[in-house]
Amino acid sequence: MKKVLITGAAGFLGSHLCDRFIKEGYGVIAMDNLITGDLKNIEHLFKLEQFEFYNHDVTKFIHIPGELDYILHFASPASPIDYLKIPIQTLKVGALGTHNLLGLAKEKGARILIASTSEIYGDPLVHPQTEDYYGNVNTIGPRGVYDEAKRFQESMTMAYHRFHGLETRIVRIFNTYGPRMRLNDGRVIPAFMGQALRGEDLTVFGDGLQTRSFCYVDDEVEGIYRLLLSDYSYPVNIGNPNEITIKDFAEEIIKLTGTDQKIIYKPLPQDDPLQRQPDISKAKELLGWEPLIGREEGMKRTFDYFKTLSTEELQKTEHRDFSERNNR
Ligand code: UDP
Repeated sequence: MKKVLITGAAGFLGSHLCDRFIKEGYGVIAMDNLITGDLKNIEHLFKLEQFEFYNHDVTKFIHIPGELDYILHFASPASPIDYLKIPIQTLKVGALGTHNLLGLAKEKGARILIASTSEIYGDPLVHPQTEDYYGNVNTIGPRGVYDEAKRFQESMTMAYHRFHGLETRIVRIFNTYGPRMRLNDGRVIPAFMGQALRGEDLTVFGDGLQTRSFCYVDDEVEGIYRLLLSDYSYPVNIGNPNEITIKDFAEEIIKLTGTDQKIIYKPLPQDDPLQRQPDISKAKELLGWEPLIGREEGMKRTFDYFKTLSTEELQKTEHRDFSERNNR
């Protein structure tokens, strides 16, 4: 049985990756320090013999007994609210954590895939974003801790590839959504869905004309899986190119949830990218991959998930809004 180590395994993407690798018959070693992850996302796997969980912080030395075929490094806070709350950990997990995992991959002769992000393009001046665009990042802004950690992570990974001949893969993940997103992570989809379910108005930041392109989690996982098994070592964008303004998106959510909430406008957080859309030509060509699940279907599935959450869970998210993002 092939063995894979997945870091950030109790998080949104990490937990879906665990499910996928279990389904493919791998032995899965799941690692998380549970700062932003939640064991609820993987508790259904605990009974399986092919699954193990280590509660460990990857910025500390990592010891895994036995052989390892693949490593997927998905540990990191991944929402603007989290970077503001835990900026040092965000920098450390992208930098020191990545270094430890590259060292582990070298030691085990394992192939490693690291989770990079569209954030490395910053507030992009090239649209849509192709992999050869170098980006426009404010190193010292509130998002800099995430963006620069991820940029460093890419450099470090390429250095291990070139210097040590390590088998490496780099996925640049664009906005992804689906069940198990944390309701209070501050990202726009859980924020709007939480607001709709609590009967509150939807908070659009800025004039709402900024754009994003949202990819359903199953599509994202399929792209990542194919990239891992490919023989391509340079970064590949994986995301859904279907772009929408945040204002139009808020209107779609109001329609979907059947609520009569209004849209209210709040200040735009600092360095919030004005536009984002992946160019996925590379993924299409190299991996034969493109997203299959449209926003209507994906959002319906995601809303069905949020509807299953208890009132108590829903209330916990009430006090987290833009002011928390701006006033730090
Ligand atoms: N956003 C919003 N209202 C919210 C949360 C976010 O209008 O309650 C906006 C945010 O300013 C950004 C977009 O939605 O322009 C996506 O934000 P998110 O934090 O989900 O992701 P990112 O900015 O990292 O793409």
